[in-house]
Amino acid sequence: MEHDGLATDEVLFDVSGEQPHDAADARLEAQLASKPDGPPPYLSPSSSSTFNSCQKRWEFRYIHRLADPPGEAAIAGTFAHHVLELLMEEPGPQRTIERAKAIAREVWPQTAELDDFIALGFDNDEQRRFRWLAWTAIEGLWKLEDPSTVIVVANEQKIDAQLGGVPFRGIVDRLERANASNDAPLIVSDYKSGKAPSARFADGRLEQVLLYAAAIEASTGERPASARLLYLGQNIIETKVTETAISTAVGALGDTWATLNAAVENDAYEATPGPLCGWCPYAGECPEGLAELESRNASGRIRSSAPSLKFLNATV
Ligand code: SF4
Repeated sequence: MEHDGLATDEVLFDVSGEQPHDAADARLEAQLASKPDGPPPYLSPSSSSTFNSCQKRWEFRYIHRLADPPGEAAIAGTFAHHVLELLMEEPGPQRTIERAKAIAREVWPQTAELDDFIALGFDNDEQRRFRWLAWTAIEGLWKLEDPSTVIVVANEQKIDAQLGGVPFRGIVDRLERANASNDAPLIVSDYKSGKAPSARFADGRLEQVLLYAAAIEASTGERPASARLLYLGQNIIETKVTETAISTAVGALGDTWATLNAAVENDAYEATPGPLCGWCPYAGECPEGLAELESRNASGRIRSSAPSLKFLNATV
């Protein structure tokens, strides 16, 4: 099942497929959620993706600030990102699988103590399965590259730039150079722990890293040569950062920003019911979502494991 280029499978397993839980971006969202009412002060990839997926969902999250607690896949993805960030801060020769395992063991208690993780209510077996899921993502980096050879410029680089008049913020997982030379081309890389998209949807997914590249160029004057999505354990999706590619991505961001501000000004948010309603934490507050769930449930077009079905059951 697909909805705006997003497969439902990816909602189940992808910390970034459904943008609200992009591992790094989520921290920006927490800052944004603390701002007073009114138009957002900036646009992040998560906010933009949520708005384009369903304006009403965006309203629930960013205007009414209803909770959207991360699920198992999002927490596992955040844990994997953290381990890889610390690994890539090590000198090249020390970026081994053994070191990654040691880091994972060191930082695991931080995840185990999270309220969101505790709320999952996992028993010991389920916790083991969770750690295996996260480790599979971490170990998947070695399927894509030899981390010891990466020339890291920055990890978890915060970016804040005006792109086509839009205040844009994000966090780049990794900025690197193509080789050890100081003037080697820059590369923007973003880790993904979810399912890699089919070729049909790859361009849409690359928009996020193209915006990161545009923001890096805007703040440093140096345009990265390429932007990549590292789908851990699967493949790398990459694009050259050309003037046309940046212009297209920034233009789309501007369109989203204009539509979003008009929606806020008019207090009018369009609901886009579809497969993702089954995974929307606000479906219980949303008549369109409940109707969609009812329809899908009646016709067998929704998995019995879709978490939002609980809202449907609560209304009968
Ligand atoms: S339930 Fe569906 S239509 Fe309603 S806010 Fe969520 S995604 Fe949008």
